[in-house]
Amino acid sequence: MNPDRTSFHALFLGDNLALDFINTEYGVDDRHQDCLTDEQSVEGWLEMAGLLPEGTVQTNACGLLDSALKLRECLRVVVRAAMNGVPADLGVINQVLEEGRPARVLAWDEEVRAYRVAVYPRDRSPASLLAPVAESLVGLVTGDKFQFVRQCEAQDCELLFHDLTKSHRRRWCSMATCGNRMKVAAFRSRKKS
Ligand SMILES: [Zn+2]
Repeated sequence: MNPDRTSFHALFLGDNLALDFINTEYGVDDRHQDCLTDEQSVEGWLEMAGLLPEGTVQTNACGLLDSALKLRECLRVVVRAAMNGVPADLGVINQVLEEGRPARVLAWDEEVRAYRVAVYPRDRSPASLLAPVAESLVGLVTGDKFQFVRQCEAQDCELLFHDLTKSHRRRWCSMATCGNRMKVAAFRSRKKS
């Protein structure tokens, strides 16, 4: 409702990084919110998601907003298509995966006295910064639990989440918001009839 940048808050309720990234745009009509409005807000989200070590945010990732919005649109289309069992255009995500390929080196870990593979971003290009989000989608759509990706059941809510509960009966993006809202609505309509 309020376009002021400080008034929105990014939602991390998808139980999956790629879904959380898609969920940075939410709300219909006059309640529409977009958490990604400039380069800083994209970096802020990446930092909140734990993809940027705190305090290292720089504002020189040129083209970051443009890349982020293109990737978000592509991820949204791919998830929807996968939910419907149809193919989608994968150009944008594959480009991010290719250009943002992290550096991978074999390293000796003195603490545990064993070798391990160290993975870190190759540089601070938009593709490098966004690659973990794209990777997360790859894991989601190729994993054996994709069937548990759901959209919140509230009529006016489009938020996506990965239902990893044991019973797989999660219905709402959040019990505190949509869950309660819909329960109250159902109670009222029962009372009326
Ligand atoms: Zn919801």
